[in-house]
Amino acid sequence: MQLMPSCQEMDAFLVDYLEGYLSIYRRLLFSLHLGLCPKCRDYLRAYRKMIALSKGAYPQDAERPEMPKELVDAILASRKDKP
Ligand SMILES: [Zn+2]
Repeated sequence: MQLMPSCQEMDAFLVDYLEGYLSIYRRLLFSLHLGLCPKCRDYLRAYRKMIALSKGAYPQDAERPEMPKELVDAILASRKDKP
């Protein structure tokens, strides 16, 4: 077995990794690959986002997109104008 998992293996074990089913050794190799492979980092991020959305939950605060101030102002303004 080669030391570093390939991108295909990363893909195959992604769910196990996120669910915490991988052995310590596998997790280590997994994070090692993630540290070196931006492609897989992006993939993992996109995957996590998808899971969060499908569960109806939102990612942690740091990743939550903020509502544009102009939009908030526009909503408040339109409410004010109503009789
Ligand atoms: Zn990769």
